[in-house]
Amino acid sequence: PKTAYVRTKPHLNIGTMGHVDHGKTTLTAAITKVLSERGGGTFVPFDRIDRAPEEALRGITINISHVEYETDTRHYAHVDMPGHADYVKNMVTGAAQLDGAILVVSALDGIMPQTAEHVLLARQVGVNHIVVALNKADAGDDELTDLVELEVRELLTAHGYGGDAAPVVRVSGLKALAGDPRWEASVEALLDAVDTYVPMPERYVDAPFLLPVENVLTITGRGTVVTGAVERGTVRVGDRVEVLGADTETVVTGLETFGKPMDSAQAGDNVALLLRGVPRDGVRRGHVVAAPGSVTPARRFVAQVHVLSAKDGGRSTPLTSGYRPQFYLRTADVVGDVDLGEAAVARPGETVTMTVELGRDVPLEAGLGFAVREGGRTVGAGTVSEVLG
Ligand code: GDP
Ligand code: MG
Repeated sequence: PKTAYVRTKPHLNIGTMGHVDHGKTTLTAAITKVLSERGGGTFVPFDRIDRAPEEALRGITINISHVEYETDTRHYAHVDMPGHADYVKNMVTGAAQLDGAILVVSALDGIMPQTAEHVLLARQVGVNHIVVALNKADAGDDELTDLVELEVRELLTAHGYGGDAAPVVRVSGLKALAGDPRWEASVEALLDAVDTYVPMPERYVDAPFLLPVENVLTITGRGTVVTGAVERGTVRVGDRVEVLGADTETVVTGLETFGKPMDSAQAGDNVALLLRGVPRDGVRRGHVVAAPGSVTPARRFVAQVHVLSAKDGGRSTPLTSGYRPQFYLRTADVVGDVDLGEAAVARPGETVTMTVELGRDVPLEAGLGFAVREGGRTVGAGTVSEVLG
């Protein structure tokens, strides 16, 4: 029998972000290695973090790129994104749940376009605390690393993160992974910074239950399982839930976190939910599992949207009314029509108010963050200000 999950420490969701090849996955593996040597979890090697989703699924486990570990004071679920094409999409849809982020910047390369794009998106989806890992410090020289540090602090400040106060820790994921004591200590220092700098967020455990579906799997002999992070509320085995998008009601017949069964899951937990009588193709990523009647889906809303400038990876030409990009709201990916009203055009670098009509109904609420994408790249980051129906 599997050991049940015991909640002994506060649980937080964090993740690595930053430019490709700056060492996010290496650092993630190094964190699990350093902590496993101190009884804080299981070592997850690089190729287990970076491999294909199907291979990473063992029983009712969580989304592919999640690892879990514990420091002295906290239990963390840590998400590391596999490749760049999906990175932004996953970060945005998952980042609504991130309580803090580790921005990985190579001390050899400094800020690169994806570094800036991830900071901007993190701000937009409500990640309030960023700890910086200046990685590859083993290979950099001190003067250059000092310059990179200044540059990163400026970037954070430019996006409202208070770059002067943010912890910037020089680390080497590679050397820590290889067991070099000096660099193992650097990873511990990074984790101390995360423990102290990222505050425990308020959890809306008494709100009606809501979980955006990230993945759907079939467990032979048991049925259909959906995975994701509980956005708010609490859910227990035996609870009735509604699946928005699938327009069906069902009962939760099993709950697990990281392969361990649990009786009840709450806001902030990464869970797998076994749903009674729902066929595998009856539920998809982008659907929302919620307390029955607690949310009303809608398709029209007003939003504030920051149009990314070309240097942040966005468009070089303005948008106009009639523009039809993809909207990434929670885990859903929906086409929508943009109406810019009297302003009529929105230039890269501007923040504008727009009315959006989505191609289908999704659960919407004021304050919800989203990304605007076109042809596989992020062109805007927005927040819903008013739901029109
Ligand atoms: P990701 O794309 O951000 O996940 O980066 P990876 O973790 O895949 O690392 C990219 C490359 O950088 C690999 O060749 C790593 O071995 C190398 N690398 C990662 N961390 C370090 C480090 O701390 N020092 C050095 N010298 N190389 C590193
Ligand atoms: Mg990687």
